[in-house]
Amino acid sequence: MTSFYKYKDMPGTKQINHDIDAKARSKRLAKRKPKTPAKLANECAVDLQLLVRLKAADSDGNCQCVSCGAIKHWSEMQGGHYVGRGVSATKLLEENINPQCRRCNIRATESHVGYTLHMIETYGVDFIKHLRQMMTEVKKWRKTEILELHEDIKRQIAEQKTRLGVGL
Ligand SMILES: [Zn+2]
Repeated sequence: MTSFYKYKDMPGTKQINHDIDAKARSKRLAKRKPKTPAKLANECAVDLQLLVRLKAADSDGNCQCVSCGAIKHWSEMQGGHYVGRGVSATKLLEENINPQCRRCNIRATESHVGYTLHMIETYGVDFIKHLRQMMTEVKKWRKTEILELHEDIKRQIAEQKTRLGVGL
């Protein structure tokens, strides 16, 4: 017991223990609180952005920015939305998300013409018209729907990582 008190009285010890307790407590609370469909959709979108980069990567891991044509490793690219990610109906649509370099993703207005050309060449004009229609719809995501989609995306990410020899 003597050694315990000596340890406890060491400078800084109490503070460290307190931080650990607080972290564990907030983790427990986060687990208990159910995630909203919006939060689940955001988590799903992040993985979908990863998946499109992995899928587009060649055997060396490189992929091309759909807006400017720059070639970079998938890990340096971003998954850029064609129709902005604020639109619920197209937020989790794979064809609406494509590899973009950081610069083009940030400068969305400047890079949009290049992105549009890519979309027309890849999916055709009718698909762009379809996207325009989707933009007018408000999609109410159900939790189960998002979770199923997310599971499928995770499975595909694992497949792509195996293909590219990336550690899981
Ligand atoms: Zn670019």
